Amino acid sequence: MPNAHWIGIIAIFVITQLHAQDRDQSPPILCQGNYQSEAAAVEQLTRMAATYSNLPEWKERAAAVRKQILVGAKLDPLPKRTPLNPIVRNKRDFVGYSVESVAFEPLPGFLAYGNLYRPLGKPGPHPAVLCPHGHARGPSGGRLRADQQYRCATLARMGAVVLSYDMIGFGESLYHGWDHQHKQALTLQTWTSIRAIDFLQSMPDVDGERIGVTGCSGGGTQTFLLTAVDDRVTVSVPVVMVSAHFFGGCDCESGMPIHKTRVLETNNAEIAALAAPRPQLLVSVGGDWTKNTPVVEYPYVRNVYSLFGEQAQVGNVHYPGREHGYQFLKRQAMYPFMVKHLKLDQKGVFNEETELYDETQTVIETPKQMYVFDESHPYPATALKPNSSVDF
Ligand SMILES: [Zn+2]
Repeated sequence: MPNAHWIGIIAIFVITQLHAQDRDQSPPILCQGNYQSEAAAVEQLTRMAATYSNLPEWKERAAAVRKQILVGAKLDPLPKRTPLNPIVRNKRDFVGYSVESVAFEPLPGFLAYGNLYRPLGKPGPHPAVLCPHGHARGPSGGRLRADQQYRCATLARMGAVVLSYDMIGFGESLYHGWDHQHKQALTLQTWTSIRAIDFLQSMPDVDGERIGVTGCSGGGTQTFLLTAVDDRVTVSVPVVMVSAHFFGGCDCESGMPIHKTRVLETNNAEIAALAAPRPQLLVSVGGDWTKNTPVVEYPYVRNVYSLFGEQAQVGNVHYPGREHGYQFLKRQAMYPFMVKHLKLDQKGVFNEETELYDETQTVIETPKQMYVFDESHPYPATALKPNSSVDF
């Protein structure tokens, strides 16, 4: 018979285990949409800034935030890198650039769809730019949008190899039956962006040391999440998305516990700061949740860069009278930043008189022209059924 002493120890052990299970099974904390007020966001930034005062302390915090994103997104450890099995086809030549339709497999059987814009008549090796997109829906949404085509073509005409790729359930992914409301959307999209860098770096004419990424709205979220977790990104331009009070309204942005756990709180301004000291431009407007960027988010991010002595590497272009989106003016803010930091060649594109980048050579294509698969190039039989759970 065990004596009372041992019974007591065993009871304490069992109770402790049960409490640990309780903690494990407690619901995750999600910070979604307008999770907090603008005033609460300012207070949160003050609390977060008080946790570090020098570079080693920031690096320690940055590592913890990065780890929390990966754990929350179910990407820790990172999945095995399986063969991408890329399909690149149907090259169309235009003035100064070409477009091809591409697909690759971030995971076996799970396809990513995109278009590859390449410079014509410029010697390599070329820098590469990833262009994720936001939540503009419809048969011409996502990567098929005209404003997305303008920016990809114009970057290519200045010497970049540009990959424009669908979110899950948009564009060609939607066409093949995938729903954006997939419970793994955040995981799948972040992993697709990581594998998109692998795909670009596998090209012999791409300089793998010059990798840019830019997107707007939900594509802005993908931009700063990718930059936060993958140090191969060397320059980033998140557009109208970095906000300390708004966390993204879609599950693919904030439907997993990447922002807050019982031990660490963060927000998208701090996640953007994880880019430091790599060059980063925040583009913001008065007409959405980035309206406070010049006085709230940008100073927070800039302070982190100053710890590296690299304050000049981060910038903010703010349009107080403009609305949400990646329209002409916002693209005009992005181009010179990419030109400078990716060493693009703006000759023949930048007009010295108007001080604008010419986009008029862009040929806007139809969805059918941009798709990878058609009657003569059928959808692979090995592809996962739409809306399957994807094994990692
Ligand atoms: Zn989404």
